[in-house]
Amino acid sequence: MSATTENEMKRAHALDGTRVANEIKREVAEEVTRFKQTLGITPGLVVVRVGEDPASAVYVRNKVRTSEELGISSEHQHLSDDITTQELLEIIAALNARADVDGVLVQLPLPRDIDESQVLAAIDPAKDVDGFHPVNVGRLNLGEPILAPCTPLGVIELLKREGVSMGGARACVVGRSHIVGRPLAALLLQHDATVTICHSRTKDLPSVTREADILIAAVGRTALIRGEHVKEGATVVDVGMNKVTDIATARSLFSHDVEQRVEAIKRRGYTLVGDVHPAEVERVAGLLTPVPGGIGPLTVAMLMRNTLIAAQLRRGI
Ligand code: NAP
Repeated sequence: MSATTENEMKRAHALDGTRVANEIKREVAEEVTRFKQTLGITPGLVVVRVGEDPASAVYVRNKVRTSEELGISSEHQHLSDDITTQELLEIIAALNARADVDGVLVQLPLPRDIDESQVLAAIDPAKDVDGFHPVNVGRLNLGEPILAPCTPLGVIELLKREGVSMGGARACVVGRSHIVGRPLAALLLQHDATVTICHSRTKDLPSVTREADILIAAVGRTALIRGEHVKEGATVVDVGMNKVTDIATARSLFSHDVEQRVEAIKRRGYTLVGDVHPAEVERVAGLLTPVPGGIGPLTVAMLMRNTLIAAQLRRGI
């Protein structure tokens, strides 16, 4: 057998986040149509962005565009970065009071001078489509989530739809942020996985992660998870999104599609890479999410579903 054929045979099956996200968006669009036909009301999402963070601008554009594609009415409120916490709280109070607004999302990060936790706590929990309000965090940890954070929901939805069994599985989440790691661990627990959470103070990370049937990396460090971190045949979900700008690094990370990566760096200055070392991990894992095309598209799809859920719940549906 040639070396190439042997390598190809050992490659993990790629979990197609884009396909699953499109499936979810189709379902949401159908439900939105039914909702409008039944009640004569269009679900509404308002995205609030403060300042000029370029990544936030791209994320918000994507959220607004996807809402429109799915028949959800969307509004983008772009505020200057010299706004005070008090002024932002007043804007949120006004959105909470508006009958035509079902979902309110404040794009993070906020400028340093704004009190983020006060702002998130000011959103009506029933309109909190990002699932960051303390009431929704509490419900999630009680195992009774109503509106949970979108990226963790996307991970769970992908596992479910790809037939990865969570009940009784050992799951390890690397990362304990409020946005990804912690809520994801709570959702995995709710689905009866035996959950371990790792973080920057975890000792001997590979010995812990190698126990996992389902390993999820949500760290923000390029290729932190190497072959030695992964149990043979495990399902590996890569939430990380990191930019690699150096061609030699890109060549060392990928075993296939290398020239496409190099081309992307030459064209736009970077290629997107996760927290997982793809060339090493795809030889050990059974299933692996790619970056891009893995969890990223699911986050927006789950935001759309949360907006629909908020609209339904507010009307007792
Ligand atoms: P974050 O708030 O910076 O949290 C990172 C976590 O990783 C922290 O808990 C940190 O531990 C842990 N960590 C750092 N270095 C580590 C190490 N060497 N070993 C083990 N754990 C380590 O990041 P985040 O917001 O959760 O985002 C994580 C990644 O996901 C980023 O790349 C982000 O861009 C990406 N992301 C993607 C999506 C998407 O839609 N695909 C959405 C959100 C985030 P400590 O708590 O001890 O500091």
